[in-house]
Amino acid sequence: MWYCVHLFSMEKITIKGRFADSAIFTGERINNLPHYIPSKGVYIITDGNVNAIYRGRFPECPTFVVEPGEASKSIQTVVKIYRWLLDSGADRSSFIVAIGGGVICDIAGFVASTFMRGVKFGFVATSLLAQVDASVGGKNGIDLDGYKNIVGTFNQPQFVICDVSMLITLPRIELANGFAEIVKHAIIADAGQFAFIEANVDRLNACDIEVITPLVEKSIRIKTNIVTADEHESGERRKLNLGHTWGHAVEKVSGLPHGQSVSIGLEFAARLSCSKGVLGNREYFRLINLLRGLKLQVCSTMSQRKIFEALLKDKKKEKDFIHFVLMEGIGSVRVEAISIQELKAFIKIEK
Ligand code: ADP
Ligand code: ZN
Repeated sequence: MWYCVHLFSMEKITIKGRFADSAIFTGERINNLPHYIPSKGVYIITDGNVNAIYRGRFPECPTFVVEPGEASKSIQTVVKIYRWLLDSGADRSSFIVAIGGGVICDIAGFVASTFMRGVKFGFVATSLLAQVDASVGGKNGIDLDGYKNIVGTFNQPQFVICDVSMLITLPRIELANGFAEIVKHAIIADAGQFAFIEANVDRLNACDIEVITPLVEKSIRIKTNIVTADEHESGERRKLNLGHTWGHAVEKVSGLPHGQSVSIGLEFAARLSCSKGVLGNREYFRLINLLRGLKLQVCSTMSQRKIFEALLKDKKKEKDFIHFVLMEGIGSVRVEAISIQELKAFIKIEK
């Protein structure tokens, strides 16, 4: 009987990879992880926070616990894990499982893609951001000298389990990071999803799993459709940068969390779209209200000039134009090259 209920709530989303397919399971639980992994030769990578709360629900396997936080996405951590794998007797047939947020999925995906020229791996994504973002696209990577994800590979995990019940222990600030990406996906491709979020703001803020589950599933489907349409980061995939061109610069200058920075970036993209006559004021205010409702920041007291300088530094390969994702409405976006002169005039920076 329990198994029936379990099947009802679970959704499988398949992603076609270059070499192999990957499957994302929403509504699945970490307790079922043993059904997805080999009976031996499994190595778990997790972080200190997730380990402290959920260790009792991990399968009995050697486990490497990484210090929580972005600072762990370093080559030093990766080397430590390679040595641990060797010392523990891992070989080419071993299987690596990441149990954690985006940081852990990135590190474990990179380690698994490179150890002995690559071993199979899977994720239990435990943060909302990892479930709706890191789970799709097969990217992994580590940071170097302040550059994020500068070293990494494209490689799909065998499976991603999105256990939404684990989100209950996620700190509120981390939940908001995921909401920013979920709203982004809705603006890119799904007006219905946007309306659903609007109608459920209070339940989402209370981390109501009944509402979060379909939201996560739909969000993953939106990203999956975009990524499969364009496996290697041009055309369609560029749309996923919505709010991120300005948002990354905000993140660099302010040190605000990713979701808060993306939210400020979404407001910027919407305002820019309005000023170009692409987006109507009504849609702009709908977006602002929704972001605010989800406790996301939409404006900042930071110097626009500083943010713009950080943006130019980030995009130094794009000479006179910067590619921006503009909103044409809720559920529709387009990528446009905007001249640096025009941007300066828009944010009222002198020449
Ligand atoms: P991301 O936001 O990319 O997922 P992290 O992997 O750093 O980044 O996860 C964000 C933070 O949330 C980390 O401190 C991590 O330890 C913590 N975390 C992840 N999942 C859970 C969970 N289910 N419960 C409590 N804390 C969690
Ligand atoms: Zn993002």
